[in-house]
Amino acid sequence: SAKGDGKAKSHVFHAQMDIDYHYKQRLKADLRLAIQEGGLTLAFQPLLDVATRKVVACEALARWNHPELGMIAPSVFIPLAEETGLISDITAWVIAEAISQCRSWPGEVGVAVNVSTRDFRGMDVEKVVDAALSAAGLPPTRLEIEVTETALIEEPEIAKSVLEALAAKGVEIALDDFGTGYSSLSYLSALPFSKLKIDRSFVQDIEANERSLRLLTNVASLGRDLDLTVVAEGVETSGQFDLLLAKTQIQQVQGYLFSRPLPARDIPELIVHLNHD
Ligand code: C2E
Ligand code: CA
Ligand code: CA
Ligand code: CA
Repeated sequence: SAKGDGKAKSHVFHAQMDIDYHYKQRLKADLRLAIQEGGLTLAFQPLLDVATRKVVACEALARWNHPELGMIAPSVFIPLAEETGLISDITAWVIAEAISQCRSWPGEVGVAVNVSTRDFRGMDVEKVVDAALSAAGLPPTRLEIEVTETALIEEPEIAKSVLEALAAKGVEIALDDFGTGYSSLSYLSALPFSKLKIDRSFVQDIEANERSLRLLTNVASLGRDLDLTVVAEGVETSGQFDLLLAKTQIQQVQGYLFSRPLPARDIPELIVHLNHD
């Protein structure tokens, strides 16, 4: 009967919730250990300049290879880290490690790191950045900080003052995942952004859908009008790249077409390889 089905379903539902709850508790405990014991690594993915076709920077992306469960996606463990406050430890480590890696890259290739909403209240982002830059002897102009709109909504005052202090030193500030959040366009002029990263959902169907292409073209020209460096994320096919070249003034690209995120040790060679093609 329908009634019986409902009961069975709700039973399954509760059992699933228990599994999710215990799984999450386990992951949180294991994540704490991984941070303490050096169980996280970084992958880096290049951003290329469209005009020169050279690598301008590489974005640091956290990786967690769990000893029993294998690779856990950042879309799983970053939110857990945010819930528990462990994110500050991760961010501090990512900043130091990414900056230290960047030192060994050829040319003036910069490094981009993601900073979470919670970091603005959980840690002194400016202090951590300063310490990491001076330890590595890297000029602030080689560093980019990527923030999403969530950070700006949840911690507007702290985020503004920290980002302004960093921008004043020459750190590049990028608005990440543009178009996916609340998209309050007022942030674009109220905060010291110099870069706009258009989310890959805008790039995804531009080959199949004329309206998607027009939307991307318009978002890109909005960024250009505001004197921002515009980046397209998630470029996967040469068809997409050709359309970007033909129809938009996007200045930088990132995506599997150019390279997947790779382990730190592969990056110097990747940069040389991409820059000689
Ligand atoms: P994100 O900052 O937007 O990073 C780009 C994500 O898109 C990465 O996923 C990257 O692997 C993926 N990607 C790049 N090119 C392509 C493409 O052509 N096609 C597709 N389908 N995907 C592409 P990843 O590494 O799984 O990271 C997911 C998200 O997790 C990141 O999105 C970021 O929000 C967060 N994250 C990763 N590492 C960190 C970190 O160290 N700190 C913080 N706070 N967040 C991080
Ligand atoms: Ca990012
Ligand atoms: Ca720079
Ligand atoms: Ca992004």
